[in-house]
Amino acid sequence: MADLYEILGVDRDASFDEIKKAYRKLARSYHPDINPDPKMAEKFKEITAAYEVLSDPDKRQNYDVGGNGFGGFNSGGFGFSDIMDAFFGGGQQRGPRPRNRPGQDALIRVEVDLMEATFGCERDLNVETAVTCGKCNGTGCANNSKPRTCDICKGRGETQQVARSILGQVMTSRPCASCQGFGSVISDPCGECAGDGRVRARKSIPIKIPAGVETGNRIQLSGQGEVGPGGGAPGDLYVEIVEIPHEFLIREESNLHISISIPMTSAALGTRVLVDTLDGKQEVEIKEGTQSGSVVVLRGFGVTKLRGSGRGDLIVHIQVLTPTKINKEQSELFKKIASLRSEGLDKVKINTNEEQGFFDKVKRAFR
Ligand SMILES: [Zn+2]
Ligand SMILES: [Zn+2]
Repeated sequence: MADLYEILGVDRDASFDEIKKAYRKLARSYHPDINPDPKMAEKFKEITAAYEVLSDPDKRQNYDVGGNGFGGFNSGGFGFSDIMDAFFGGGQQRGPRPRNRPGQDALIRVEVDLMEATFGCERDLNVETAVTCGKCNGTGCANNSKPRTCDICKGRGETQQVARSILGQVMTSRPCASCQGFGSVISDPCGECAGDGRVRARKSIPIKIPAGVETGNRIQLSGQGEVGPGGGAPGDLYVEIVEIPHEFLIREESNLHISISIPMTSAALGTRVLVDTLDGKQEVEIKEGTQSGSVVVLRGFGVTKLRGSGRGDLIVHIQVLTPTKINKEQSELFKKIASLRSEGLDKVKINTNEEQGFFDKVKRAFR
């Protein structure tokens, strides 16, 4: 059995403030609202149970005494099973477990394209989920009948055994096998849901996907998860965004990148070109003497910022195409240009470029 101090990651002589701080920090990463993974929910229960004991001076003292091989088992008011309960979240919930239990959270993935991620969209989710059985209203009992008290455990929901252990004889209680711990048995189960109180059904849920989402973002829809057994409150539905890559626009957070090719002559002389953006075609000025690999930034033509305001930028990466398949006349003209520019043709003077990565260029574009 893990140590409560270890669970919270604090020293045995930690102060109340330190314990509180450690708990808050852990709770933030394991809280079901933040992390719907069922394993994390278990972990959350575990740290909460540890915190409940260690944040209460009396309980903590009892735990410290009991922690030494459970010496305080018989003498203190705080017994082994209480510790176990504090641990496993049993706590006050001893006795029969309720038939009515909270429903599970559910996760659904929704694909959006770049246009939808940028401007937001509305969707109708078609989900298969558990809903309250309409025939028995969630009770699980047919014909308005009621569950009867379990004969084996007399309604306690648990049976007790005496077990030998290193601590001597220990009384352990287990959920009653006859009634699965409910303390009652449904003798006349509903024909529609077989006593579960819920049935599977398809339902359509309209959702609004905000502008600026990206893959991995989750939207929480409270109470839209599965209904619990016995008509228990529904869990939450989490919608996880999966963004479909765009054909030619590459997203980098709120910025977009596009790569275009222009003829060498346009790069040398300068021109205006039309570039496809999410907002339709935009005119981009190609300055005289544009180099291959240079960028032009279209401010505000990127993706909407999910947190914050406005939109990112569209960064146009320009590639200059060297002509291929030139005819004799063109070849003569190129030679003439080379001669006019004193660039030579045999022993061409070259320069060594400084290393410039893709992102360096992007950064420079923002300065
Ligand atoms: Zn039913
Ligand atoms: Zn029973």
